Amino acid sequence: MTGTEIKTGQDLVKVLDGGFVKLVDFLGGDSRAVDSARVSFGSVSKGEAADRKLIGYLLENGHLSPFEHSVFQFHIKCPIFVARQWMRHRIASYNEISARYTEVHDEFYFPEAFRAQDRSNRQGSQESSSLDQEKMKAVYDRAIKASYAAYKELLDAGAAREMARLVLPVAQYTQFYWSINARSLLNFISLRADSHAQWEIRRYAEAIQTMFRAKMPWTWEAYSELHEKNPR
Ligand SMILES: Cc1cc2nc3c(=O)[nH]c(=O)nc-3n(C[C@H](O)[C@H](O)[C@H](O)COP(=O)(O)OP(=O)(O)OC[C@H]3O[C@@H](n4cnc5c(N)ncnc54)[C@H](O)[C@@H]3O)c2cc1C
Repeated sequence: MTGTEIKTGQDLVKVLDGGFVKLVDFLGGDSRAVDSARVSFGSVSKGEAADRKLIGYLLENGHLSPFEHSVFQFHIKCPIFVARQWMRHRIASYNEISARYTEVHDEFYFPEAFRAQDRSNRQGSQESSSLDQEKMKAVYDRAIKASYAAYKELLDAGAAREMARLVLPVAQYTQFYWSINARSLLNFISLRADSHAQWEIRRYAEAIQTMFRAKMPWTWEAYSELHEKNPR
């Protein structure tokens, strides 16, 4: 299972069967972090080697506010259950499509394969060859189709969009704009690209990781080295 089409440096990455991560805008970069840190003592860039060293020092010593001056703005399309995990990350700004204003399209996440309950991690899942995938997919497909048909039926019967949507499942795709500074984004990546995070949100975190690396390569390199030495 891959679930993500990533090409390094791309500003739009398709994720899962109908989602995407699009980098809409970016402000700042490695040099902005360096200049923000050096303003403390009235100085700016001292050349690549010294600047990279400074970035490593800042990350290693938890002097993280200089990374708050770089900001990524994304347009995300993901299933609602992924968005619920995502929006726990409070240090960011969100604007989401409203199913009160707009009619929901027939767009639902359909897993490539069902996973079994993980035996050691109560929250997690694991691939399993003993599952009857065909049966599970049929059950899933039936449930999604039934709920969307009920949604349309309620609308046709005169129910408001805000009420008809109550029958829709968390597999439904939603969209939102997400603005987040580089410090908070590293926190998101460290938590959501991690093996403890759910498989689906990890695919998004991996896509975002490639965009972070493209925009702030020195910071990404220093972060990765630290993360390797000291995984969460
Ligand atoms: C694998 C995994 C499993 C999870 N399981 C669950 C679960 O079962 N149930 C559940 O409810 N959540 C769960 N979560 C969500 C988790 O508890 C966090 O809410 C989420 O990961 C956001 O992390 P964060 O608070 O660091 O990020 P942000 O909200 O973006 O905050 C960034 C940082 O700002 C600081 N901060 C933000 N708000 C406050 C505050 N109010 N007080 C003090 N400091 C603050 C903290 O230093 C924080 O790390 C899970 C997360 C992961 C990755």
